[in-house]
Amino acid sequence: MRFIADLHIHSKYSRATSADMVPEKIWKWAQIKGITVVGTGDFTHPAWFKELTQKLEPLGNGLFCLREKFQNDTPPVSCAKDVFFLLTTEISCIYRKADKTRKIHCLIFVPDFESALRINMALGKIGNLRADGRPILGLDAKKLLEITMSESPSALFVPAHAWTPHFSVFGAMSGFDSLDECFEELTPYIYAIETGLSSDPPMNRRLSALDRVTLISNSDAHSPAKMGREANILDTDVSFEAICDTIKSKKGFSGTIEFFPEEGKYHYDGHRSCKTRLSPGQTINNDYLCPACGKKVTVGVLHRVEKLADREEGTDVPGVPPHHSLIPLVEIIAETLNVGTASKAVDRIYNSLIEKLGSEFHILMEVSLDDIERAGSELIREAITRVRAGNVHIEPGYDGEFGTIRIFSGEKKIKKRKL
Ligand SMILES: [Zn+2]
Ligand SMILES: [Zn+2]
Repeated sequence: MRFIADLHIHSKYSRATSADMVPEKIWKWAQIKGITVVGTGDFTHPAWFKELTQKLEPLGNGLFCLREKFQNDTPPVSCAKDVFFLLTTEISCIYRKADKTRKIHCLIFVPDFESALRINMALGKIGNLRADGRPILGLDAKKLLEITMSESPSALFVPAHAWTPHFSVFGAMSGFDSLDECFEELTPYIYAIETGLSSDPPMNRRLSALDRVTLISNSDAHSPAKMGREANILDTDVSFEAICDTIKSKKGFSGTIEFFPEEGKYHYDGHRSCKTRLSPGQTINNDYLCPACGKKVTVGVLHRVEKLADREEGTDVPGVPPHHSLIPLVEIIAETLNVGTASKAVDRIYNSLIEKLGSEFHILMEVSLDDIERAGSELIREAITRVRAGNVHIEPGYDGEFGTIRIFSGEKKIKKRKL
């Protein structure tokens, strides 16, 4: 079966995360978005773990469903669908290696509460798991992989958002230049990396060293509406083992749904506080210094990829699964109305489209343009046409500032109608 999986989100127990990140709402929003398998996030947090054991029912295949008595807040019938949970967590490893401070986020997927509990017991001896849904441990990422493998041999371990400057395996500020430097003889057990919002598969494929790993994409959502902003398309059985086998072997891995990487917060270089956005070339010309304040700029993902790449941009790499670059539907609607995404009008149109046409992924990728125009407007039809064709303009994000999208930029917006 072909389905969409988003395997990295956070619960309400993670810092800066919405109080709505609870199983009931995650279940509801997975359906609105069109996600079949969703990560639980944060299984290392004792209170969240307890809540998961109360609200989720094991299905015997490494996945879980929301117990029926908690299925009260339902999505529109047009989106109603089974949702399966997969136990996931993210650990922030901060440690020194080879005379440098390393800060690396890692994802762990496990098939049952017992495995999660064993990992929690082992990690609980190293640091405080209660402080944050995404705990910070003074632990070498390689050691974390070792612990994961010994406590749960069927677990999958994936370096998270592998390119972000401050907290990732290849990050410019505190990462490594290769997986081998980080994981040494355990590198063969790294079957996948998460590309993160600021990079996409073609950028990653510029490193031949990554040819053997699967490039997965997840939302890292901190609120329900952000779920699925990146995700994986799998064509396999809906079970923990089949999902992991697919990620490991790439067989049945049918691609990813991506942000346009320019939209990510760290695509370009720069200084957020100085509003300085620099391309890699400009950064080099400026000697890595901010033209406004003279301090070192934050080197973004594009620059970092450029630095580590051994292939030219646009090199054809065979056997790479397709990726679909999408823009969240609320952003598309907001653009057609010329208002912010938080506007009530955007919300109203979003809900009406979902009710009439089905899930957000269905609308963005599959629904016919005629149906979109009938349910929405001519302008929404035109916007989605352009998004599907990749015909959008984006001011790249930098130093923690999201990129800005203009679907209709560089021309007179086609005549705006009453929506
Ligand atoms: Zn992270
Ligand atoms: Zn500056």
